[in-house]
Amino acid sequence: MARMLFTVAMAVTTLASAAFANAPHFVHLKALNKYDRTKIVEMGVSIEALATDSVYGLASDSVLERLKKSDIKIMETFLAKPPEGVTDFPSEDSRFHNYDRMTKALDDLVAAHGDIMRKFSIGKTLQGREMWAVQVNTGKETLNAKDGAVSVKPGIVFMGNHHAREHVSAEIPLMLLEYLAKNYGVDKDITALLDKRDIYVIPMVNADGVEFDISTGEYKYQRKNMRPNGSGHIGVDLNRNYGFKWGTGGSSTDPSSDVYMGPNAFSEPETQNIKAFVEGHPNLKVLLTFHTFSELILYPWGHKYDAVENKEDLATFEVMGKKMAEWNKYTPEQSSGLYIASGDTVDWAYGSLGIFAFTFELSPKEMYDGGFYPGAGVLDKVFEDNLRPALYLIDLADNPHRAKSQTAGDFEWLH
Ligand SMILES: [Zn+2]
Repeated sequence: MARMLFTVAMAVTTLASAAFANAPHFVHLKALNKYDRTKIVEMGVSIEALATDSVYGLASDSVLERLKKSDIKIMETFLAKPPEGVTDFPSEDSRFHNYDRMTKALDDLVAAHGDIMRKFSIGKTLQGREMWAVQVNTGKETLNAKDGAVSVKPGIVFMGNHHAREHVSAEIPLMLLEYLAKNYGVDKDITALLDKRDIYVIPMVNADGVEFDISTGEYKYQRKNMRPNGSGHIGVDLNRNYGFKWGTGGSSTDPSSDVYMGPNAFSEPETQNIKAFVEGHPNLKVLLTFHTFSELILYPWGHKYDAVENKEDLATFEVMGKKMAEWNKYTPEQSSGLYIASGDTVDWAYGSLGIFAFTFELSPKEMYDGGFYPGAGVLDKVFEDNLRPALYLIDLADNPHRAKSQTAGDFEWLH
């Protein structure tokens, strides 16, 4: 019986391999605590979901071989089989935006709301796609900003899709832009909020990876960018490539790994462009980068287990995380409480620039609720869940430390 099952499993694997070269392996691994989890990440696994005493993640062929030789207990492994589809997002997910449709959606928004929005490129991806940003600024100074001047208003930046397969993470910042545009001049609280802030949205950081992920109508579970690494391996993990404590743990030097850190910090045009943009806008005080999945609110540090040293900053991160969790019901915690991850956006933004930076791991909560590909049906609820946290962050962009002294009355406008 065991032999028969094995044969069937081999047949399925062979079929899937033929249809989908270089398919990653889903792995279910025993892990009791953050130290076990960090060890697993450092073997090259991208951990994607946590259970009480185990984790789920993705592993390349060579990472799986390494796991098999280690003392890490492999509970289950199976080939990631993408759903069937057409040469774009599968039809049931047609609400999602590929790169061209994202570009058009941003163009349409700006055309309709040119009085408060402008679209610009922060630079090109590795394959030459423009990395689009939209600025929302209702003041006359917006015109000046077009000439490259930095707004005098406090600023915030939202980002999505550092990781290609995390398509929900591009839709939510786009929906936020649409919400702000629709409500400016209509809702008095939103109008007042926008009048006092300088807001940037960069919805699709890893456009090359997104296009690859959907290019054959079968999702490919692509996480990284499209950097050829030699010997057939593609991609650097953009969220391990930032230059604060880069390569100090929780990432891999194996180019086939999903958490490959790249040959050096900021080796990739995508992270270079984000660096130049953020450093060029010193009015930015808050950053939110959307990822999927697991329903988490994460804040520094990721590269080490120690808490943020500045007690006032730490208290601010904790208060903000808890407050936002009241709305979206996600779990707020220090990033390294999951496992060590160095070279991510949030550690860099806070560690290098003092920006209060958060990662949201959006819905679903579990891999078995759809994981990276939960379908377009979830989008409205995910947006609804995260609207108030986003507005709260915009409001606090003048001085995040204000979070510690806010009372219930300060949030009435969000109800
Ligand atoms: Zn991610």
